[in-house]
Amino acid sequence: MNDSSKKESPSPARHTDTRVVTAGRDPASYHGFVNPPVYHASTVLYPSAEDFLAHRARYQYGRRGTPTTEALEGALAELEGPQCAGVSLVPSGLAAISTALLSVVKAGDHVLVTDSAYGPTRTYCDQILSRFGVTTSYYDPLLGTGIAEHFRDNTRAVYLESPGSLSFEMQDVATIAKAAHDKGALVLMDNTWATPLYYRPLDHGVDLAIQAGTKYIGGHSDVMLGTISANAATVAALKNTVRLSGLCEGPDDVYLGLRGLRTLSVRLERHFKSGIAVARWLEQRPEVLRLLHPALPGHPGHALWKRDFTGASGLFSMVLKPVPQKAVFAFLDTLTLFGIGASWGGYESLAIPFDCAPIRTATRWAPGGPTVRFHIGLEAVDDLVADLERGFAALAAASA
Ligand SMILES: *Cc1c(COP(=O)(O)O)cnc(C)c1O
Repeated sequence: MNDSSKKESPSPARHTDTRVVTAGRDPASYHGFVNPPVYHASTVLYPSAEDFLAHRARYQYGRRGTPTTEALEGALAELEGPQCAGVSLVPSGLAAISTALLSVVKAGDHVLVTDSAYGPTRTYCDQILSRFGVTTSYYDPLLGTGIAEHFRDNTRAVYLESPGSLSFEMQDVATIAKAAHDKGALVLMDNTWATPLYYRPLDHGVDLAIQAGTKYIGGHSDVMLGTISANAATVAALKNTVRLSGLCEGPDDVYLGLRGLRTLSVRLERHFKSGIAVARWLEQRPEVLRLLHPALPGHPGHALWKRDFTGASGLFSMVLKPVPQKAVFAFLDTLTLFGIGASWGGYESLAIPFDCAPIRTATRWAPGGPTVRFHIGLEAVDDLVADLERGFAALAAASA
């Protein structure tokens, strides 16, 4: 007997740190090798014409799934918890958002979307769903039971993202989910920030949980990947929509997602710890008005974060006291450890300027000064702080 004969099965008693390592693994099926092979596949050969016509095969066609895709889907399903009835992989986080929405709406429906949603989510609703007779209205992310007033007779789904993209408002997910279910609507949530390690949306009444696997699951800024996790109420519709739409994720990207997942717990722990340390340092700076980080006690959503989440990732924003735009640019352009670029969740730190005002419709975005979003990577905090100190010196010089 060797290790490969030990079948690894899910055990509800295991800690998340352990499940990140064991979930979705089956070395016995791969000659004992620790990881599954990357199946590059379209055609699957059948033993006979009769078997072919009867679709009698464990795997039928590359687009329909391979052992590689099933390994990642299975691992994610286990991490989402007991409410998860299935996971689908799609080629990007935005594809996860659009596919989750498509799987629940039909012509004539209305969807309620948080005003704090990732910008392209809004654009998809406004420019694509609208063409098929699905209307979207936006709501204040801070609404709790008050969300009930925003439902219409044809409201089919409520879409949440907590904390909000760029702005970090925390939402009362369980309260909104209850209001939605009372009205017969489904609940969708973008959970990219926390990942199921720090928040499991399906445990709190969410029907479809979305992640940009591009971010923390990949973890190395080298993959585009989207994941959708469904409960029993939505899994059939999700699987059907993914299958009939022809969506499938490239095998190398699936493998990179699986590889990233194995170290997600240790990486997130460091992003969390370093993120808090840098945010606290920034909070003390005279140039800073406030931090938008839900794990800091001064954040308006801190109580919700504490109630619901078991950790925070390395992504947060900062509001500066008013300075000319050229001073903000001088700050950002001086930083050498913080790259300027879209996306986040990789091992490296990032900093970008942003303004939510142009995309808000249900709430007004007036933070009181210029805003910068940070992703705190895996570098040493002291080095990041020294870099930021140089940035603030450049900001002061450019403000003079
Ligand atoms: C980046 C991001 C997405 C989109 O992911 P892609 O893989 O870039 O398409 C969705 N939601 C949130 C919150 C994101 O930050």
